[in-house]
Order: sequence, then structure tokens, then C-alpha cells
Amino acid sequence: SKGAAMVTAVAQRLLSQRQHVADTLDLFRLDQEQLRQVRDRMRVELERGLKKDSHTTASVKMLPSYVCRTPDGSETGKYLALDLGGTNFRVLVVKIRTGIRKSVRMYNKIYAIPHEIMQGTGEELFDHIVQCISDFLDYMGMKNTRLPLGFTFSFPCQQAGIDKGTLVSWTKGFKATDCEGNDVVDMLREAIKRRNEFDLDIVAVVNDTVGTMMTCAYEDPKCEIGLIAGTGSNVCYMEEMRNIETVEGDEGQMCVNTEWGGFGENGCIEDIRTKYDKEVDEGSLNSGKQRFEKMTSGMYLGEIVRQILIDLTSRGLLFRGRITEPLKTRGIFETKFLSQIESDRLALLQVRSILQHLGLDSTCDDSIIVKEVCGAVSRRAAQLCGAGMAAVVDKIRENRGLDHLEVTVGVDGTLYKLHPHFSRILKATVKELAPKCDVEFVLSEDGSGKGAALITAVAKSFNGET
Ligand code: BGC
Ligand code: MG
Repeated sequence: SKGAAMVTAVAQRLLSQRQHVADTLDLFRLDQEQLRQVRDRMRVELERGLKKDSHTTASVKMLPSYVCRTPDGSETGKYLALDLGGTNFRVLVVKIRTGIRKSVRMYNKIYAIPHEIMQGTGEELFDHIVQCISDFLDYMGMKNTRLPLGFTFSFPCQQAGIDKGTLVSWTKGFKATDCEGNDVVDMLREAIKRRNEFDLDIVAVVNDTVGTMMTCAYEDPKCEIGLIAGTGSNVCYMEEMRNIETVEGDEGQMCVNTEWGGFGENGCIEDIRTKYDKEVDEGSLNSGKQRFEKMTSGMYLGEIVRQILIDLTSRGLLFRGRITEPLKTRGIFETKFLSQIESDRLALLQVRSILQHLGLDSTCDDSIIVKEVCGAVSRRAAQLCGAGMAAVVDKIRENRGLDHLEVTVGVDGTLYKLHPHFSRILKATVKELAPKCDVEFVLSEDGSGKGAALITAVAKSFNGET
């Protein structure tokens, strides 16, 4: 009958809609073989970054940190710390005690960095930072105490010492002029001088991964790796000096900031990048750069989701085929929304209300599809991080000539902490791809603040100044 034919037609349309969505999301599905390839290519790039003749062109920069040991509990003193480059800018006072009352206490204040300052001039950015420090010192009643300062600066820096770091390139949402190629410690000192109000003793410039590793190592000596899965994505680990050809000396170890976010800049993961990844890259502040980061970190996952949703909508598979203003808005899907949408405890009705809140009118079918899209994108991100981590732990194991390695990773970042599935998939992938390593992941609460202070303390005692 005519009615039955219509029902069949509707059913077929639905089926083909589901099929189209499934086909699109298949692009984000990586099988074991592909993940093993990612691990192996990462390994190649880690090696290239360490070697004298290849490091200048390597996509994984392997930047020496000049941090040569993890804390041993003897660190002590009162420090100032700055944390720039994560979700917030913070100024902190950190008090470290040793002995039977071994502890770390912190006081901090969060300051916003407005967009126009992130992307204005370097002078404006550093003046703003010093303005915040000034406010903090007033607030703490500490204007006249000259504390040693550790500066967590979460961007790639070519370091020539613990207190020297030339910004290689901005990443994430930053793009202030006249900073790339300059020493960030110098820029901070000059801004302090311009203000001419107080003095600071800048002892260390620190990547957030290194701070995270140090914070975790303070509690657990097996911690020799730091991971950030947040706004950005990056890893550091303790490497043998003899393998770091870019730094003089063969004895002992040094922490290397891998800057693995740049992985793929040489084209070595083009086979797994989708057209959506390319669209996200083209719409970013640093097109062509940080290709791995753009597939794995909080700042970009929502953007990948948005690109897929736009495509599905334009093909009439979603949102009744209407591309509305919110859907055209860059950055609407923050990590916290993705995390909420993917939460297992959430009923579809609640997914719809989140979408509603973002200004997206959805049907029940729409909300199912959106949830699937988010799942596919974040699963791939966790797997890619896992594949990268497998390369790192296996390198450490081989460095030490071990059949079996037990190691701890200190982790921080909103994606790792907030997302309902990311950490589980990451761990499962590492287990699968590095079977000779036992890898424990430990949340490193506030690595950027504590870690900067611990590194400053270690640096001071190294210089015989305690
Ligand atoms: C930066 C790294 C940083 C990471 C996590 C990346 O964009 O290049 O230096 O560690 O973000 O904050
Ligand atoms: Mg941070």
C-alpha cells in the first residue's frame, strides 16, 4: 500500500542518514596497526629531535630544560611562581618545608588575560603580567620582600640555562608581537624595570610539563615523565645526557621538553589527518603548526567537533539542515561542554539542554549524533596521546637496557581531569602499545605552581645558595 511504501521510504532515509554519519566518524577510527605506526613515527621524531644533525629541522623539538634531577624532599624556602599559558594566568607564593614537616603550601590569585592582550604587543603582554604581580604583592603585603621566582611559561622555549629561554613560537591562543626569538626572562625583567616599582629575582623558566613532573616526583621518585592534556598537549621526560646531543656533557640525565604538539609538521601523519583537522588548522592562529596538538588537546577538540557538525548539517543530516550562528562561532564547544555531553550519566534530554544552552536547537536524533561525534573525536585524541606516550616510555626502557620498566607519569590538564573517558582510553592504549612497561598515571595537582617553586629550589641548592 501507499502508507507502507511511505514508511519504508522514511526508514530508508533514516538508515542512510545513520550510514552517512557512521561513514564520517569512521575517518576518526584508528586501528591497532595505525596506532602502532603513530607510536613508531613518534619514536623516530623523538630521536631526530635529540640528534645534532637533525634537531634543527625536527618536528618534535626535544628542548633541554636544564632540570637535571627530581626533588629529594630536602627542598625548602619561600618562592614566587608565575603560571602563564594554561587556562588561566596565576601568581603564587609557595612555601616549601623539609624534614618531618615536609609540605608545600600555596597562596595564589587568578588573573584573566584578555584576548586583545594575548594577541597585542609583547610589551603590553609583559606589562600586564607585571601589573598582576604588583597587585598580588600588594594583596599579600609582600612588596618589599625579594623572593626567588620560578616562571612557568607553557610554550616552546629554547633554553641555554635554567633562567634563559628564547620563545621559539607562540602556540594555543597567544600571538603577541615581538616575542618570538626573544628571551622571556629578559622580557619580564624589562617590564619590571619599566614599572620601576619592585624587584624580582628570576631564577628559573619552566615548561608546565616539567613543573608537573617535578610536583609528582616530589611524592613519588618513580615519576620521570610529565604530561599535559589540557588546552595544549605536551610531554617531558628524563633523558640520558649522552643522548642529548644538543647539550654538552654525557653524565647523568636531563629533563627534555619534547614539544610533541609539533609532531606531524613534517607531514608524517597526513594519512590520519581528516579534512576536518585541516579546516581546524586553517582557522587557527598558527596554521601548519602543532598538528598533533590540534588533534589531541582541549583547545581544538571542540573545533573539530564543530567542523564535523557543520559538514553534517550542510549535508542535511543534522539540525534540520540549518547552519545557525552559534554553529558558526569559533570556540563554542569548550572542553567542559564536551566532557558534559559525553558523560555516561547524562540522559539525552540533558545533552539537548546543553546544546540548547549553546544556542543549538536539536531533536532527539540530533543529540544522539552530536554525542557520537564528540565520542569519536575525543577517543581518537586519547588514543593518539597513548600512542605517543608508548613511544616515550619504551624509549626510557631501552635507554636503561631494561626488559621491563616501571614508571610514573605526572599528569595535569583539563582534558585529562574533566573528560569522562579520555584518561581511561589513554591508559589502555599505552598498555596495549608498550607491553614491556608498567605505566602509572598520577594526577599532579597544580604542577605549574608547585613545580616552578620546586625547580627554583632545586636550582638554588644546585648553585649552593640555600
Ligand atoms: C606548548 C607546550 C605546553 C603545552 C601544554 C603547548 O601548546 O607548546 O609548551 O607544554 O601546550 O600547556
Ligand atoms: Mg597549567
